[in-house]
Order: sequence, then structure tokens, then C-alpha cells
Amino acid sequence: MDISFNQVEHRYMSGTPFEKVALKDFSVTIPSGSFTAVIGHTGSGKSTFIQHINGLLKPTSGTVKVGPYTIAAGEKKIDLKALRKEVGLVFQYPEHQLFEETVEKDISFGPINFGVPKAKAMRRAKELLPHVGLPEHVLTTSPFQLSGGQMRRVAIAGVLAVNPSILVLDEPAASLDPEGRKQMMDLFVRYHKENQTTTVLVTHHMEDAARYADHIIVLHNGQVEMTGGRELIFERASRLREIGLDLPDSVRFLEQIKEKWSLTDVPMHFDLEG
Ligand code: ADP
Repeated sequence: MDISFNQVEHRYMSGTPFEKVALKDFSVTIPSGSFTAVIGHTGSGKSTFIQHINGLLKPTSGTVKVGPYTIAAGEKKIDLKALRKEVGLVFQYPEHQLFEETVEKDISFGPINFGVPKAKAMRRAKELLPHVGLPEHVLTTSPFQLSGGQMRRVAIAGVLAVNPSILVLDEPAASLDPEGRKQMMDLFVRYHKENQTTTVLVTHHMEDAARYADHIIVLHNGQVEMTGGRELIFERASRLREIGLDLPDSVRFLEQIKEKWSLTDVPMHFDLEG
């Protein structure tokens, strides 16, 4: 499913003294099946941008299209439930959204909500655990007894359990150490490859954008500053630095841009329809 923004503007607290234009004259396309990184300094509009993709926010003006769904001001007919089945959104610190008594119930909550029979949803939860790097025995424990990193994996499994065709990730590796970050990113890359998902990753780690994404969108002051293939983007390093992005200047970084999908090929099958 292609995602396209056409002349979108988003204003917070419109008509009040606190009004803030967070996106303006914002037009961009995220190609179906791409692994797209969204980069930009704090306040550039990244979170506002991605929350339009599953209809959490609506444009003040302009149009967002996600496959057959249209999200626009005044558009009342949009089937948000159907849209959210397609678009899985992993927020920053997703572990804060866990709420069930057991890991199994938390992971199967989404599928059950979307009409998957309970027994099948429970099976799905069990199948997903190894894919997110958790042992099977945690199924029956409370998510709140797990470590922070494990809780995050449970929350992510809950999003993957719905089998979204678009996966939107807002800094999913925030606060993890480099090894934890790599494991987390490996998980999403495997999921992306095995399921031909369209993946949208918000990150302030330029190394992650360079290493994992094939398509990059750079935001600056609520607008699209650049968009395109990653080689094209990183060639404009001086402009990226000018707008406050922290680019490493090591030779290694430039090499990384040329290496692609250098991750270990661990199969990751989600036979969720069966
Ligand atoms: P980023 O994710 O790149 O840090 P955001 O989309 O969070 O950027 O924010 C873009 C701008 O909109 C910022 O100036 C921010 O202060 C403002 N903003 C974000 N959320 C809200 C909100 N709920 N109410 C008012 N202003 C907001």
C-alpha cells in the first residue's frame, strides 16, 4: 500500500493563542514495500507526520491516502478500525501501554479485538515469542514482572500479532544500549523482509537510517526538506548538518551506506492466517 500526503497542514490548538503549525505544505509519498526512515531534529514534525498514517491525527487541511483509505479534514466515512488493522504503530516506550494480567493476554488482545478467535489468537501469541526474542515460559507471567527490554518486546509482539501490512515505528530502540538497539532493529528488518511490509522508522540515529532504510524522508520545521534513496540523501551531508542532524563523519559510516541488508538471515515466518 502506498502512503501519500498531499498538501497537508496540521495545526495543534487551532484558533487559540497556543496554535502551532506542526506540518505545512507537506507532500510526500512512501513507496509500498519500502523501508523508509524519517529523520529530522526534535520538533521538526516527525511524530505529527506518522500519527496521520493510522488516523490518530487528521490533517487540518490537505489529504492523506493510505492505500484505499483517505484521511482528510471533514472526511467522516473513514473506517478507522480497518485502517488500524493495516497500520501497526509502535510508539516510543511501547511498554507503557501494556495492561493485561499475562503476556499471552496482552499479545492476543489486538487480534481478538480484530475478530480473530481466542484460541487462534493465543496460538499466535505463542508463535510470536521466539521471533521477538522471548522464551515461551513468559506467556503466563505478568508483563510487569519482566525487565524493561522484555516488556518492550511483548508490546511489539502485540502490534505484530495483528499482522499489519504497514509498520510505523517511532524510535522503537529509544534508550536501549547499542547491542539491544541492534537486536531490536534486526527484528524489524526480518519482519519487513519476510512479510513484505511497508516499514516507516522514525529515528535520530543516522547510522540506523543509513544501514536499514532504502528510502529516506528528511523533515525540517514541519516541511519535507529532502526525500529519496539513501545514497542521494547522505550525499548532501553538509545540508543535513546545517539543519541540525548529527551525522557521523567516519569512513565507516559511508561504507555502511553502501552495505545493504548485511544482517544475518534468520527466517521469520508468520503463518497467521493458518
Ligand atoms: P518531532 O517528533 O520531530 O519531535 P513533533 O511532531 O512532536 O516533532 O512536533 C512538531 C511541533 O508541534 C513541535 O513544535 C511541537 O512542540 C508541536 N507539538 C507536538 N505535539 C503537540 C501538541 N499535542 N500540542 C501542541 N503542539 C504540539
